[in-house]
Amino acid sequence: MAKMNPNGLSHMVCFSCGNIFPNEQKNPIACLSCGYEIKAEMYRKIMKHAMCAVYYGYDYRKVYEKQIANNSLITERYALVDPSTLLCFCAAAALSGIIGGIAYDCVKKAIKAIISNGNAIKQDIGQSRIYLFESHELNTFIRYIRQYSIDRDEIDSGVLKEIEDEEIGWAASSITTELIFRGVTLTEEEIREAIHDAIHDAKNPDRPIKDNFVRFWESLPATEEESNNA
Ligand SMILES: [Zn+2]
Repeated sequence: MAKMNPNGLSHMVCFSCGNIFPNEQKNPIACLSCGYEIKAEMYRKIMKHAMCAVYYGYDYRKVYEKQIANNSLITERYALVDPSTLLCFCAAAALSGIIGGIAYDCVKKAIKAIISNGNAIKQDIGQSRIYLFESHELNTFIRYIRQYSIDRDEIDSGVLKEIEDEEIGWAASSITTELIFRGVTLTEEEIREAIHDAIHDAKNPDRPIKDNFVRFWESLPATEEESNNA
């Protein structure tokens, strides 16, 4: 399952021009369109947070908020499909504004460039249940990514609890699967410790910091408006 693993995605996005290209597992990752390079570890760190932000901070939040709106409490749990790759790329752009301090006009321009390059992963687009072309939904998307990343207090406490339980549950089940897959023989104590560590990591992820977003979106193509003015 590709869930929460940027290495498992078929495509990558260029953080300078918004180009989308096949994931060839290279290091450093270089964009053939503009030449921008990024170390694989840094790309992975940013994309991992972007994927979690879409999956937990946007997709899960939406379904739980809907339940609260309809029934005023959460009675049903879900197992949502993997987040849309295109939305994860857009979330990385949103994070460059939220954490990296890049101006929102530039972030929105980057998101538009990513969406217009989305044909490269057309099979994935059907998964997106939102249309970021609609500026209202784009604003909600950016707000949800921000609140998941830095302002969790602004999320309804009942919804936040569900989201965090999902994250912890996923961490515990994926480490269990991994241990079985590796076929290692561990004592009960070692298994408990591995699960404990995975949950700790899920609660304290290695988040990207401001400096990680320096020089993002420097090679964005000119918009139609800009070309007309040139
Ligand atoms: Zn590029």
